[in-house]
Amino acid sequence: MNTICTNCKSDKIVSGVRVTDLGEGNAKFDLSLETYKKPKAFLFKGAKRYTIKANVCCSCGKVETYIENPEELWAENQKNKLRLQ
Ligand SMILES: [Zn+2]
Repeated sequence: MNTICTNCKSDKIVSGVRVTDLGEGNAKFDLSLETYKKPKAFLFKGAKRYTIKANVCCSCGKVETYIENPEELWAENQKNKLRLQ
């Protein structure tokens, strides 16, 4: 992960911050990428989630998001020809 901001070159970076939203009843959940092995299936779509995290520059406020397991997403994509929806 970057320890220097790509925008302002500051090293005031806070890494691995959770990116959340509030759902029904203010339940907090992490934003994530989601892929499906069978996107058209009614049930059992084979969903897989990749939690989004963020690095934040505390000098200029730039937020950079990432997933921790990109190789896994790539491997899944190669294996199953996933569609991101
Ligand atoms: Zn910055």
